Amino acid sequence: MLYRPRHFVLQELACPHIFEKYGETAWQFFDDKLLMTLDLLRDQLGPIYVNNWDMSPAKRKQAGTQLFDERGFRCIQCSIVKEHIKENILYVSPHMTGQGADFDVLGLSAPKVRLWCAANYILLPFSIRLEKSVPWVHLDTRDCGKGKVHLFT
Ligand SMILES: [Zn+2]
Ligand SMILES: [Zn+2]
Repeated sequence: MLYRPRHFVLQELACPHIFEKYGETAWQFFDDKLLMTLDLLRDQLGPIYVNNWDMSPAKRKQAGTQLFDERGFRCIQCSIVKEHIKENILYVSPHMTGQGADFDVLGLSAPKVRLWCAANYILLPFSIRLEKSVPWVHLDTRDCGKGKVHLFT
């Protein structure tokens, strides 16, 4: 099944490299479970911000936000991945397998979002992992058999 999210365009979830090379066919790289979970959270919590590289610099400035281009899918041309390759460090982040995204929710701190997920796990369609103690929300759908909502460091 190829799920298309109701609330997100590809530019918000893909890096610019992948978007430029593959266009709309880049949806094939994403885990449906991640896309469905993001839609559910958007329905429940309101606006969710992942990447904004597609926004004009003026609009970003107006919104008072920095540039985000590696918060969703990351390819080998993304700087975070390139750094790992340069240092010969193995890197199999959920961001590289279409299973992970970093985001902010309008009006909710990251700890509050993590608490909401833990308290409302019954609403979540799939098991998720959340990274503990980061100032943004890192969510991924890599199932490590550790329950519906697994907090990891
Ligand atoms: Zn990239
Ligand atoms: Zn992340």
